[in-house]
Amino acid sequence: MSRPTTVQIRLDAFRHNYRLAKTLWPGKAMAVIKANAYGHGAVHCARALSQEADGFAVSSLEEAMQLRDAGVRQPILLLEGFFAEAELKCIAEQDLWLVLHAQWQVDALLAASLPCALQVWLKMDSGMHRLGLSPKDYQFAYQQLSGHKNVASIVPMTHLANADNLDSDHSNQQAALFQRTLANLAPCHASSLANSAALLAWPQLQPILHNHEHWSRPGIMLYGAHPNIASSQASVLEPVMQFSSRIIALRHLEKGDAIGYGSLYQAEQAMRVGVVACGYADGYPRSAKTGTPIAVDGHITRLLGRVSMDMLYVDLTAIPSAGIHSHVELWGKQVSANTVAQSAGTIAYELFCNVKRAHFDYFDPANI
Ligand SMILES: *Cc1c(COP(=O)(O)O)cnc(C)c1O
Repeated sequence: MSRPTTVQIRLDAFRHNYRLAKTLWPGKAMAVIKANAYGHGAVHCARALSQEADGFAVSSLEEAMQLRDAGVRQPILLLEGFFAEAELKCIAEQDLWLVLHAQWQVDALLAASLPCALQVWLKMDSGMHRLGLSPKDYQFAYQQLSGHKNVASIVPMTHLANADNLDSDHSNQQAALFQRTLANLAPCHASSLANSAALLAWPQLQPILHNHEHWSRPGIMLYGAHPNIASSQASVLEPVMQFSSRIIALRHLEKGDAIGYGSLYQAEQAMRVGVVACGYADGYPRSAKTGTPIAVDGHITRLLGRVSMDMLYVDLTAIPSAGIHSHVELWGKQVSANTVAQSAGTIAYELFCNVKRAHFDYFDPANI
């Protein structure tokens, strides 16, 4: 491992953020570690919570099996349920929980012959219009499933489309519709509504929980990025991923010299520039603009010009002490992933998921 592009994952920070999530709303918290824990490494993240997570949520049977094979014993929820009926037998054998989001899944589960009953989360579409049964169809499916031999219990769930937008009333509307629909069902013991944004910013939705246990589903907050980029609460979360590299070459530019592909950046004065061993093939966004913050040896400076596949340019003019081998933080504690995401026209979720090729290094002070 000689190329210096590395990702350090702080599992103590991950645990801190999970514990914080648990304090925000009463009830249980399903740690969402789909998509390889948003690029952080699902098995490592699950192990970091092996003593305390109420459960884990993933996107597919393959993701769930990776956790079971690694010895994870907690409940594991399949957020999209099954894609083909043939998966049901394995879901039962591995003791996985599943979301049912469409009538075809309900019908298939009712018709299946299974070794045991399954824990079902029945999803309602309360206004996001992605997955879930309409409020009109919800009650029928709920009744079909209630008491059926293949169904051990049912947790009603729904997902908010705009919880990261404090100016929108949509979350209130979705929660009210969810609550009204639940009120018409036989009494249920649990429900699930809140993602990270709701946990952090919508405590007023909590009355929906009355009389039953709520399962929250925190994802992005566990990785230390606030879902609402502008939030002043961002610092209550600890960044988990530090994406870093080193300077491998130096350039002295005269006024008017241009740098990189497309000669996108032209020096306004004499400048000192560092070439960093990290590019879009490592997951640094090519769309990040000149001026995106980058930390070099602890000093905040800025990206210059166009990001290449393997390299990018950083302004060292104001950091004379920096040179070859200087440490560069692309994002982490000093430069928040949200800031980089904003400059690149995307979200921290996507930056995290895109990190690749770099060497991953896991740090957990509890296991030293
Ligand atoms: C991904 C996902 C979450 C987690 O969302 P965050 O915004 O990362 O907290 C919660 N619920 C469902 C259904 C999801 O797909």
